[in-house]
Amino acid sequence: MPLSETHASFTEAGREPCAKELPFPDVDLMHVWQLLEPGERTRLRGIRTFLQERVRPESLGYWNREEFPHHLLGEMAAHGLGGIELEDSSELFKGLVYVEAARADVSLSALIGIHNELIVGMIQELGSVEQKTRWLPALARFTALGAFALTEPGHGSDIAGGLSTTATREGDEWVISGAKRWIGAATMADFSLVWARDTTDNEIKAFIVESDRPGFSTIKISNKIGLRIMQNADIKLDSVRVPESNRLPGARNFAAANELL
Ligand SMILES: Cc1cc2nc3c(=O)[nH]c(=O)nc-3n(C[C@H](O)[C@H](O)[C@H](O)COP(=O)(O)OP(=O)(O)OC[C@H]3O[C@@H](n4cnc5c(N)ncnc54)[C@H](O)[C@@H]3O)c2cc1C
Repeated sequence: MPLSETHASFTEAGREPCAKELPFPDVDLMHVWQLLEPGERTRLRGIRTFLQERVRPESLGYWNREEFPHHLLGEMAAHGLGGIELEDSSELFKGLVYVEAARADVSLSALIGIHNELIVGMIQELGSVEQKTRWLPALARFTALGAFALTEPGHGSDIAGGLSTTATREGDEWVISGAKRWIGAATMADFSLVWARDTTDNEIKAFIVESDRPGFSTIKISNKIGLRIMQNADIKLDSVRVPESNRLPGARNFAAANELL
């Protein structure tokens, strides 16, 4: 769809669309594209075209309706947007992909960023071989989605010291109880990466909690003024049981290194 039709949808009912359209800024303002390898530059150009011509015109309606454009996930995956963190490409390329996503729709860029850095990246860096095998290929194809569940109703900026969701070991299982707030994509994700405090040693650990586990529930947060496509939710964890194999084995060292303990 040409951008002119997108602009027309901004106008109020009964009014004529603007006769003259401002050109869309299509320049390398910071002169960083030239630092990319030629192959990466060509690929980024393709991603920009896809995001501007396919995603941006459609996203406006989804933004207005607070809905998620599920049908775009397959095409986004075909452009590699589901597994950027698994690639061998440069950090500059990865960063510019996020910039391009934000130019198309800031809430979709939040999804792509969280999906890659906080879900794919965390499992890749901190997960077990079994967790990587089970989730990474599907996440890269966007046939699976995860949510990053750290913030709580009573703890935002102070989460490092205040995290109050608990995890208690019972045999080969963990029992997780607590609440999370503002969690992006939680209403539609296959699992949430839940950060909880071990009641035995007080350490913060991370668990893959599948959305169909008994005791796990979400409620969508509506009427946001920003990131309206992103489906943020309140999560309730009511004695949710997960096996020890769902705990991210590398998260303990990660939490310590980042002073989350
Ligand atoms: C759209 C959206 C998406 C989100 N997605 C996720 C997600 O996917 N996963 C997730 O875990 N979380 C998510 N969050 C939560 C986000 O990380 C928190 O909102 C953030 O950490 C701030 O916490 P808070 O909202 O409790 O605000 P608060 O921590 O209560 O802060 C409120 C205000 O007080 C200020 N403030 C706080 N502490 C101090 C201090 N000590 N000194 C001075 N000023 C201070 C802050 O700067 C801010 O202006 C999301 C939030 C939003 C709005």
